[in-house]
Amino acid sequence: MRRVGVLSVQGAFAEMAAHWRAQGAATFEIRRRADLARPMDLLALPGGESTVQGRLLKDLGLFDPLRRRIAEGLPTFATCAGLILLARTVEGAARPWFGLLPVTVRRNAYGRQLGSFTTVGTWDGRPGTRMVFIRAPSITAADADVDVLSTFDGRPTSVRWRNITAFTWHPELAPPVRPAPRPVAGTGGM
Ligand code: GLN
Repeated sequence: MRRVGVLSVQGAFAEMAAHWRAQGAATFEIRRRADLARPMDLLALPGGESTVQGRLLKDLGLFDPLRRRIAEGLPTFATCAGLILLARTVEGAARPWFGLLPVTVRRNAYGRQLGSFTTVGTWDGRPGTRMVFIRAPSITAADADVDVLSTFDGRPTSVRWRNITAFTWHPELAPPVRPAPRPVAGTGGM
């Protein structure tokens, strides 16, 4: 059974855990360093407030070990704030958080009026996918080796790069999206 560690310091971690349990995975919460000792096939980074999450990760001593695990190839699935934590560049910020995913993100990119909305589009070749955006960031630039899985208004809204699959929208809130992040070679698959 796939074991999914869900970062659970702030935000929509309960929804993220339910999403993976509905797909038959076993989930556990990551709240402190000791939780990282548990066997983990996939790390899930939920939506929420990236600034709050980033600060808590540092306060709790989770930031460096998590960053190392992701950089080493741990399959990682991220939505919204989680994508912002992973991005190499966050517009307007002096420095990124993990800075691992070679994309540039703009926080709260859709403004106040259009802050939250739903569209139906094609995700990874699957039409009819419901995409729920909640004060979502947009991806304003991506390196050439980043696979774009969906777009909205001409911009990428979900991407895959090495061991990371990341969304500006919330697949966990609109089943039945069943992403299977592709592990990097040598991690043994999932
Ligand atoms: N606006 C949030 C941020 O900047 C992200 C919103 C979300 O995760 N739904 O971190």
